[in-house]
Amino acid sequence: MIKEGTLNLVFLGPPGAGKGTQAKMLAASYTLPQISTGDILRSAVKEQTPMGIKAKELMDTGALVSDEIVIGIVEERLVKPDCEKGFILDGFPRTIHQADELKKMLQVRGKTIDHVLSVEVDKEELLARITGRLTCRSCGAGFHTVFDPPKAADTCDGCGGKLYRRDDDKEEAMRKRLDVYEQQTAPLAAYYAEESLLRRINGSGSIDDIQRKLLTILGSEIE
Ligand code: AMP
Repeated sequence: MIKEGTLNLVFLGPPGAGKGTQAKMLAASYTLPQISTGDILRSAVKEQTPMGIKAKELMDTGALVSDEIVIGIVEERLVKPDCEKGFILDGFPRTIHQADELKKMLQVRGKTIDHVLSVEVDKEELLARITGRLTCRSCGAGFHTVFDPPKAADTCDGCGGKLYRRDDDKEEAMRKRLDVYEQQTAPLAAYYAEESLLRRINGSGSIDDIQRKLLTILGSEIE
């Protein structure tokens, strides 16, 4: 049960910090939709929609897709009925312009962000984590060769789908993604600190420990 009816959350953090994993767990605890622009873009790539075809090349090299495309995706998604009780944004916003546009699209609907959860992990650990990352082709679940191995090799524990290594998880693309993060996304921490929305979480413990820390921060939101 969520106090005052809604809980609007944004996850911030570099690629590989565990945002997606944590967002998925919180989404299950609070029964809120997890909106991952990366997941939405990956399904567009898989389905070879015009947007997917346009996005693929940029995604593979670790660059950002245009603000216009991702803002459109989020705008369409946030008006769906399952967002009435709140939402968990994962991977958006990633630029100051996206953050400004998010603020505007919420404002016109009388909504605001409640917390920006910044999951912080240093660069060396990120590189080690991400190069072992495996993703399920069917349901998008994440695993790790060392830190979170699947029960059967190359197979998703959840749905039995085939696991693969994302093109943008290979080392060169990963370095580029970290640079892009530092230049374009990291400034959002100051942006949200200014609005008193930033909650920093050390993201280098176990998955369950980090989830507990998040639930403690959000504890006051649950009845
Ligand atoms: P993610 O799964 O969040 O790591 O996203 C994978 C890739 O999708 C990123 O490296 C970008 O190319 C693209 N992407 C996801 N979200 C955004 C966003 N908010 N702005 C621009 N590009 C994005």
